[in-house]
Amino acid sequence: MAWIKILPEEIASKIAAGEVIQRPESVVKELIENSIDAGAKNVTVILKDAGKTLIQVIDDGCGMDEKDAVLAFERHATSKIQTYEDLENIRTLGFRGEALASISAVSQVEMKTKTPDSELATLVKIEGGKLIEVSKTSAPTGTSIAVKNLFFNTPARRNFLRSKYTEFKHAYEAFIRFALAYPEISFEFISDDEQIAKFEQTDFETRIKQVFGEKFFETLIPVDEKTEYISIYGFISKPEFSKKTKADQFVFLNRRYIVNRSINHAVYNAYEHLLDKGSFPSFILMISIDPRHVDVNVHPSKLEVKFDDETGIYNFVRAVVKHSLSKFSLIPELTIEPTGEVKLAPSTDLIEVKKQLINLTEPIKEKIKKEQQFSLDIITSSFPEVSTGLETKSASEKAEKIFKEIRSEIPTAEEKSLSESITFMQVHNKYIVAQIKTGLMIIDQHVAHERILYERALDSLNSNSPFTQQLLFPQTIELTPADITIVKELKNYLENLGFDLRIFGKNTVILYGVPPEVKQGAEKKILQEIIELYKENSNAEPGLSERENLAKAFACKTAIKAGDKLTPEEIQVLIDQLFLTRNPYVCPHGRPIIIKISIEELDKRFGRI
Ligand code: ADP
Ligand code: MG
Repeated sequence: MAWIKILPEEIASKIAAGEVIQRPESVVKELIENSIDAGAKNVTVILKDAGKTLIQVIDDGCGMDEKDAVLAFERHATSKIQTYEDLENIRTLGFRGEALASISAVSQVEMKTKTPDSELATLVKIEGGKLIEVSKTSAPTGTSIAVKNLFFNTPARRNFLRSKYTEFKHAYEAFIRFALAYPEISFEFISDDEQIAKFEQTDFETRIKQVFGEKFFETLIPVDEKTEYISIYGFISKPEFSKKTKADQFVFLNRRYIVNRSINHAVYNAYEHLLDKGSFPSFILMISIDPRHVDVNVHPSKLEVKFDDETGIYNFVRAVVKHSLSKFSLIPELTIEPTGEVKLAPSTDLIEVKKQLINLTEPIKEKIKKEQQFSLDIITSSFPEVSTGLETKSASEKAEKIFKEIRSEIPTAEEKSLSESITFMQVHNKYIVAQIKTGLMIIDQHVAHERILYERALDSLNSNSPFTQQLLFPQTIELTPADITIVKELKNYLENLGFDLRIFGKNTVILYGVPPEVKQGAEKKILQEIIELYKENSNAEPGLSERENLAKAFACKTAIKAGDKLTPEEIQVLIDQLFLTRNPYVCPHGRPIIIKISIEELDKRFGRI
């Protein structure tokens, strides 16, 4: 390791400043970070009275010579960064040069440290920030720091400490996070002379078992995905093993434990309908990104980070988790070829997301080609069953049941295609019925089309290349002043969708062109209905974004209706397009699009089994 230097003021001032030491947990965290940065292979944490009287961390890392041992307790003294550029490219857990200074200011510290090439160790004693003793002693290579009587000189803060149990729990949790992130290091935890944990050096999987037990490990499924820009590796819980608390959720970024709502949300979102309200998945995710794309210097605790591309990461995490869930459930994505052949198709979702991320890093366009081979993904969510009278209780049970069903229903991953030709039939000008491998599939034509148009609308709203069908005779629409305000607000979005319109005066809109989906002769009516539905949606779902709301309203009002007769070609196109959407099973309002009746179900009904 490099020698310790005091950071110049202009760099020190760029570092997120603030209180680092709040409770024993903070000391445990800072000291373990230092041991890991020092290259330790063995780390022992010793607490007395939940850390209130003693917190000691012993490592076999690089140690310090006498000069550094004293310097280490100075404010902004660090061996880990020197320049502003280093701050942009942090690869160590520490970098602020504040921890030892802050700890020694509020406790009695005794440090013994020895480098491999010196005979004797250095002993440094500091109390309340005052250097008491520097001497030579004998000790093994590495560093042992004992922090005694935390907050002895700040009684108010000492009184602020919680019960022994609470402080112990916090400290232990901090310890566990490092244990998970660094399986190649052996960790030991001793509290009031009792060995609480000892994790031998191992790999990531075994470490999870060491920490949580084999049973827990069996409830997990793996996650593993890489792009040029980001990689994710780890485990998530099977939906049926979700918990009532968020206890076992760990996200590590470049092996640093972080708290990031957006990533957690992305994971929840991937589970979509698989979890009951109020139940949470467990996950242990190791994310790696080039440190230049992350800022860990946003908060003194270093728990919070900022990404260059928050949305990209959100989408990636969600797609990867979804992908793993679907792999676990072995549900391949079905697409139906114009020939009537059912094929397994690669997911648009994950590939898209990966493409976007790859574009971010610029290099290697041809990589994308490789990504195309990317395997199967499907929305595991709803393949709603026809009621069998056997109501399942919870969403997770339901999910399990759906998994089982679909696993048996759709060709296995090895069977690359199913060359069974499919005939479609429209019934009551409302539903489309088709035979699939193990039964019948019934599609609601309106919601199917709605899903297609919804996704298309979202895409056009996000791009800037509308398709417009110019009208032969422009149409004049009279609207209330309130509706005109909405049209004004949405004008850009409406134009992106393909509406070509101009607003005249307080209550007139002139329509020059419409999106091609809008039926001839119904232009005026449809625009008015879209505005109506937009208003309803925003009342019903106040959090809905303008785009999403408009896309929903547009899709609902321009989609084919129940009662519309379709030609066989139209049916074919509808089905093809449906299976190219990101979620062919649920309409934008959450209603099912496809219902499946298995042969067994039919057999049961006919008393065959
Ligand atoms: P930071 O970790 O941000 O650099 P600290 O105050 O935690 O700041 O530590 C100051 C310096 O002391 C570190 O940069 C490192 O050089 C040295 N140091 C601290 N703990 C250890 C340790 N366990 N082994 C070796 N060196 C250490
Ligand atoms: Mg440190």
